Amino acid sequence: MLPTIVLVGRPNVGKSTLFNRLTRSRDALVADLPGLTRDRHYGRGLGASQPYLVIDTGGFEPTADSGILKEMAKQTLLAIDEADVIIFLVDARAGLTPQEFTIAQTLRVAQRPVLLAVNKTEGMRKAVVSADFHELGIGEPLSISSAHGEGVRDLIEIALETI
Ligand code: GDP
Ligand code: MG
Repeated sequence: MLPTIVLVGRPNVGKSTLFNRLTRSRDALVADLPGLTRDRHYGRGLGASQPYLVIDTGGFEPTADSGILKEMAKQTLLAIDEADVIIFLVDARAGLTPQEFTIAQTLRVAQRPVLLAVNKTEGMRKAVVSADFHELGIGEPLSISSAHGEGVRDLIEIALETI
């Protein structure tokens, strides 16, 4: 069984963009609307020092307005179950939302390594950006840009090393 990296995060933080970058060509289409990826959860990770699997939890994102936080916690737990290491993706431009704290709480009880990756940081001062996310209590935030590929390789190597 290959080491498995699971991407977790609320809708629109860039999970599918990261998934596409890790598994497909640079030009893979990603929709501007959150939650579009429904049928493409598992991919073979490319471009790292070893083979791995990557799971995009995007297809599990709830669409109903009711019980979103509860549903997200449940789906996060399901994803954790499959993970050797979790990448918890947050959005540098949007900052922290209540959903991030819910996910963080769920991740804390899981016996799995978690890396906090701050996405969409291209053109931003990374130290300043990541400071905002210490509050989650997940550890040192790692700045990346999934769209531009910045920090992505390092993130994956660090993830694979934690397994
Ligand atoms: P998901 O819902 O978490 O799967 O998020 P998506 O991958 O669908 O991305 C949501 C939006 O964020 C899309 O409009 C992406 O183009 C955009 N996005 C993703 N990664 C980046 C990034 O690194 N920088 C910027 N500026 N936008 C990004
Ligand atoms: Mg998605």
